[in-house]
Amino acid sequence: MELLTIGTFAKASRLSPKALRLYDELGLLTPARVDPVTGYRLYAPEQLDQARLVAWLRRLGMPLARIQHICTLDAGPAAEEIRAFWAQVEADTAARRDLATFLIDHFSWKDPAMCPIAEPLGIRYAALSDTGLVRESNQDTAYAGSRLLAVADGYGSGGAPASAAAVDALKSLETDSTPASNLLNVLEDAIDQAKQAVHAISGVDASSEAAGTTLTAMLWTGSQLALVHIGDSRVYLLRDGELFQITHDHTMVQSMVDEGRLSPEEAASHPQRSLLIRALGSGADATPDMRLHDARRGDRYLLCSDGLSTVVSTGEIRRVLSHISEPEQAVRELVALANGSGGPDNVSCVVADVMELQQ
Ligand code: MN
Repeated sequence: MELLTIGTFAKASRLSPKALRLYDELGLLTPARVDPVTGYRLYAPEQLDQARLVAWLRRLGMPLARIQHICTLDAGPAAEEIRAFWAQVEADTAARRDLATFLIDHFSWKDPAMCPIAEPLGIRYAALSDTGLVRESNQDTAYAGSRLLAVADGYGSGGAPASAAAVDALKSLETDSTPASNLLNVLEDAIDQAKQAVHAISGVDASSEAAGTTLTAMLWTGSQLALVHIGDSRVYLLRDGELFQITHDHTMVQSMVDEGRLSPEEAASHPQRSLLIRALGSGADATPDMRLHDARRGDRYLLCSDGLSTVVSTGEIRRVLSHISEPEQAVRELVALANGSGGPDNVSCVVADVMELQQ
């Protein structure tokens, strides 16, 4: 069989000779033969498939170490690995896109040309947290004030103080007036304080090493709502009769759904559906999602712990939010629905309506 020179092989595989030499050094693509006298690398024609695969994976932006691993796999596992890599790329991009959106919104708002005629808006709100029918204690914390809305779902033996501490740490936002120009930093600082407060609790008691909490909160700025979100508590927005989930669960099953490895239905009944990939707690990734929402008169926001969303369908949630106008009554009805479905978990709801300020 005739071997190909590195030049011919490079042309056919669309890899440069320089790249081929590097891949040889890394053990990624070893030449069929190296001429002992000249040192020239020679390749077998059947190595072209692997070389083309390497070229394509490079074009995807995959790191060489990962390509090396894929080259050792059969077709099925290789496909799976590429799928997982791409899901990670998309998740990273989504996180950066959220930050970009936040910044665009932020600067658009500061640009007078982009600022709509301001009508004075305010929020009316209610919060309710309930132990449910199965758990012995309530580890959730729910809070609603004139500026701050928050839900935290604690876990582990120090779960209750953890969720309370996380929400407490945000309460300074309730009283301090935040200049719009500094919103992002103020929120980041508040999350840092919440993180430290939770760590202080999970550090006290060695038996509660796994203690931590989710934290999903919104800060009313007078015209916008800034959202910070870590974990699997959720925010829904009811706008023009339609219900939108505006947070993304930081759970293992949700990331498997994102990767196409699990259907949403399978995720809903998965035994490990509550396993968090982000949370406030020792050893957990506490990177928050942050977002700004322009408030519209008539918008209704629901913040809830998974004790609601796991057992009450979005159809039911939409029905309650559309038909019960008083926030206080709405949170009571939602909690009652969760308990009506067995109340397997603590349940917390915050409902806030954006409305014209009463003069
Ligand atoms: Mn829960």
